[in-house]
Amino acid sequence: MEKTLVNIAYLISASLFIFGLKNLSHPKTAVRGNLLGATGMLIAVVVTLLDKRIVDFSLIIAGLIVGALIGTVLALKVQMTAMPQLVAIFNGLGGGASTLVAGSALFGSATESLPYDFMTATVASALIGSVTLFGSIVAFGKLQGLIKERPVRYSGEQLVKASVAGITLVLGYFLITTPEMKFLFWAIVFLSSVLGILLTIAIGGADMPVVIALLNSYSGLAASATGFVLGNNALIISGSLVGASGIILTNLMCKAMNRSLTNVLFGGFGEVAKTEDDIYEGKVKATSPEEVALLLEGARRVVIVPGYGMAVAQAQFPVRDLFNLLESRGTEVEFGIHPVAGRMPGHMNVLLAEVDIPYEKMKELEEINPTFEQTDVVIVIGANDVVNPLSQTDPKSPIAGMPVLEVWKAKTVIVIKRSLSPGFAGIPNPLFAMDNTMMLFADAKKAVQEIVNALKES
Ligand code: NDP
Repeated sequence: MEKTLVNIAYLISASLFIFGLKNLSHPKTAVRGNLLGATGMLIAVVVTLLDKRIVDFSLIIAGLIVGALIGTVLALKVQMTAMPQLVAIFNGLGGGASTLVAGSALFGSATESLPYDFMTATVASALIGSVTLFGSIVAFGKLQGLIKERPVRYSGEQLVKASVAGITLVLGYFLITTPEMKFLFWAIVFLSSVLGILLTIAIGGADMPVVIALLNSYSGLAASATGFVLGNNALIISGSLVGASGIILTNLMCKAMNRSLTNVLFGGFGEVAKTEDDIYEGKVKATSPEEVALLLEGARRVVIVPGYGMAVAQAQFPVRDLFNLLESRGTEVEFGIHPVAGRMPGHMNVLLAEVDIPYEKMKELEEINPTFEQTDVVIVIGANDVVNPLSQTDPKSPIAGMPVLEVWKAKTVIVIKRSLSPGFAGIPNPLFAMDNTMMLFADAKKAVQEIVNALKES
């Protein structure tokens, strides 16, 4: 295919990616954004396939069949609650694929034809792609509960990480300057994989959203580097877009945690100062769905705060019923959405949009916090870390300084969860023991359904 035509098609697909991203920035236009992005990708794939110089069709077809099979099985089997870990592993596989493609370009080229720019891009792809793959595998393990969420810390940790990174860069320099030593590629892949593991196991609890956004960005940068290796403009542009949007998301997540990126990556993680017994002993009050219904009956303003437990229980359906019922009775109802609630950015917005909760009812942290003092009842549904006052009172806490939803300022707080067990950050929550808090110990879906039934009967 004519090179100019190929590049024009790539330019069209890149423009579609950019318009797609723009549309993805608002829930109302997100579906259109997805379609634009997918169309751009279709054009890029078809043009690449037609451009025979790039790949052989038989391998592409074999790859399509294997990939489609794995994708279909995953799409059918994976629970909605396991989506965050699936996204994490997809990021990782993107990084791994970039590394392998760059490696195959390196080993498939004659040594004399390996200029500096090609070698630099290959080393960048091996390094970033492997960090992404193994960092994402650890993130997957943490989100899946296979690896402990608490960060793994040891003495000399920063020195170990700096040494591994330093040796990798030195090997990278040797490979760039002496391309005959192709075997160094695998040494770089190995050390970068170790670095990916070391960087991610050191981060735990509440800081994970930042890491996931960062790994997302890395996967884009690795793809972009591979684009330079292959001389493929579509890959360079789409990789850069993923890299840049991942960095923007990382920045948003850092803001949500009130942390700098260096603090997340290298800073000391807090310790749990108080034990659960100190906080909860004799102070926790349990309630029942009927009692909650009574409180709701007399409430003029109610705020619902969803968290990861709502996703686990798939409680968004009865939550929608509760919302409709309260609104039909003239009660003002809003949702307080914390930016890191759940296990992936925008998790709660997606679940609530799925059940047609109007967007204007979903209020962000800065908007909802000043309203809690005028709120009669807050119902916290499966949220924990995002409503933990320790962030403001305990400077040693892992979530110290993180802005939280200040639900305790409302007249009454109902917390629906199954036990007093901690959230992702692994710390107790003094909210559960406050005078104006009542705990409804149950599965969120069942509890909200029972509240709805009790309200209907009253
Ligand atoms: P948390 O993880 O703090 O707490 C969730 C709570 O839900 C648990 O305490 C659990 O208590 C409860 N729960 C679980 N299953 C059910 C159920 N079936 N019914 C009722 N309750 C249930 O969630 P938050 O949303 O408050 O906070 C998110 C945390 O995850 C933060 O620490 C954040 O940093 C982290 N994170 C966020 C990511 C993101 O991008 N949003 C990514 C990675 C991590 P119990 O077992 O007692 O029921």
